[in-house]
Amino acid sequence: MKICATVAETRAACRRAHTNSKRLGLVPTMGALHEGHLSLVRAAKAQCDAVAVSIFVNPTQFGPSEDLAKYPRQFERDCELLKKEGVAILFAPSAEEMYPKGEVTWVIVEGLSERLDGRSRPGHFRGVTTVVSKLFHIVEPDAAFFGQKDAAQSALIRRMVRDLNLPVEIVICPIVREPDGLAMSSRNAYLSPGERLRALALQRSLRRVEEEFRAGEKSVSSLIAAASEVFAEEPQVRLDYFEIVHPDTLDPVEQVSQPTLVAVAAYVGCTRLIDNIVLSF
Ligand code: AMP
Repeated sequence: MKICATVAETRAACRRAHTNSKRLGLVPTMGALHEGHLSLVRAAKAQCDAVAVSIFVNPTQFGPSEDLAKYPRQFERDCELLKKEGVAILFAPSAEEMYPKGEVTWVIVEGLSERLDGRSRPGHFRGVTTVVSKLFHIVEPDAAFFGQKDAAQSALIRRMVRDLNLPVEIVICPIVREPDGLAMSSRNAYLSPGERLRALALQRSLRRVEEEFRAGEKSVSSLIAAASEVFAEEPQVRLDYFEIVHPDTLDPVEQVSQPTLVAVAAYVGCTRLIDNIVLSF
């Protein structure tokens, strides 16, 4: 595996990987890798001839009071995991390499960037879409792999690629969960044993909605009321949002009449966790 710290090295390595019309896949991450990330790498391996992974804790997607400084970093371990998966290129730049001083250009997906996580994390999605478009220009992948875990992020990236005619196929992979149902996340490492148990409320609320839906309930206000009962039973978990929206536009819906995204974000202690399901027919 070639480990690159600079844009120039990465661009050269990726162009070499592209020769002989090989298909190159990209998996963007912030490191502290777990099985969720590795599932994306495996999907990329299955669909591409060579895989590039990026590890970059992107400062522009963190708010001033968020966890940028304490975000888990375990570069050596991540490298070992990626080598075992047969990754060809690892791009791990510094913040200075990615953001030269004086940069004033942003990529903003208007409207969508203020929805869901964008409402409680102002500027978050602007940072995400900017860094992802930079990564696309550096790596020039044929396909890029993202997790359904970050459903709103996936919707923004799909829309950005469509609106800007970026020549990359976006592949969204299913959520990988712990055996008890908690969605895997690098932030789960912050949870104390008590918080780890309380974190299951997110998954329980989604399951409650799924059950009501399967029993015939299509009214969004009734489905949200059912989810609220779960959070009422778990007062130490502070709900950020629980929303039922169109999976592409992120617009709220009133009745579930087509595949619909049910997304939740909540604070367990100081840790903000997200999860979602898609209701389909
Ligand atoms: P992150 O390192 O948290 O920025 O995540 C990098 C990529 O991995 C994103 O596309 C995430 O959606 C994806 N991802 C994170 N957790 C999971 C999970 N539990 N299952 C599937 N994909 C995930």
